[in-house]
Amino acid sequence: MFPFQFTKASDEASALAAAASGARYIAGGTTLIDLMRETVERPGAVVDINALPYRDIDLQPSRLRVGSLVRMSELAAHPGVRGQFPVIAQALELSASAQIRNMASIGGNLMQRPRCLYFRDVSAACNKRTPGSGCAAIAGRNRTHAILGTSDACVATHPSDLAVALVALDAQVVTRDRNGEGRIAVTDFFRRPGGTPDREHSLSPDTLITGIEVPVAAETRRSGYLKVRDRESFEFALASAAVALDIAAGTVRAARVAVGGVGTVPWRLPAVEQALVGRAAGPDLWRDAASHAADGAKPLSENGFKVELVKRTVERQLATVAGLS
Ligand code: SF4
Repeated sequence: MFPFQFTKASDEASALAAAASGARYIAGGTTLIDLMRETVERPGAVVDINALPYRDIDLQPSRLRVGSLVRMSELAAHPGVRGQFPVIAQALELSASAQIRNMASIGGNLMQRPRCLYFRDVSAACNKRTPGSGCAAIAGRNRTHAILGTSDACVATHPSDLAVALVALDAQVVTRDRNGEGRIAVTDFFRRPGGTPDREHSLSPDTLITGIEVPVAAETRRSGYLKVRDRESFEFALASAAVALDIAAGTVRAARVAVGGVGTVPWRLPAVEQALVGRAAGPDLWRDAASHAADGAKPLSENGFKVELVKRTVERQLATVAGLS
């Protein structure tokens, strides 16, 4: 490990001041410390924000608000969240290990860096770590990489399961900077790589994430998350699907579908949603709608299997969620 300065913020003002001087925020530390040990990230200063008042989970009839310092395991275990937003609880429980879920914060989960092995190997070419150096994954080992939203500069998938559920649910990220409170739709929060893969989100470096807000809708109760991966625990998704459905008298009235493990950002599927709404629920509809799940995909040399995998993942999860009472 290299030397760096460590301070603790007692309030928002001291946190913002430290970040304005170049310090990096740290909460659970499950991503940043890992990357600092591997010297992928080398901040000169780190400021601990765990004393800030972002610890509440508040479920109202119209919306859920979650403080950014709530731990993943706390949110997954919350009875109201489990009842009103099963897709959030399931996405969290299928993430990482129990030990990491006990430490990792909701804000930190959204700020995770990619799992691309070349990003974590400081001897490899990586435009995300070192802009302009190239992308070793495009001609290298890319079985786990993205097929949607890629560019010539980067093909890494976004690693968060929670973010896939939040994209499906039209959540907002609540922020604070020196100008006050701000809100960003989670679909606008994550940036596709384009020519600047080092810019993964739309926050300025000193902006704090204070929480997330999720609107309650008729379909959020009938929802769930399916994650397909190489092993059953502590593994990232090869493909995943967050689905919420409102079905009445055998007809789909509303649908929300997003997928993970296949996109450079959590990937909403409006073509699948449009194919579902207003039609008779049943196996033929699930198969027909899911056939659009990989529209626009650009497979790499080793991950062509993800085209079929993501379609089958969506089809299966549509059937599972439709079968819920
Ligand atoms: Fe880096 Fe992205 Fe290429 Fe991986 S896919 S080596 S993160 S530029």
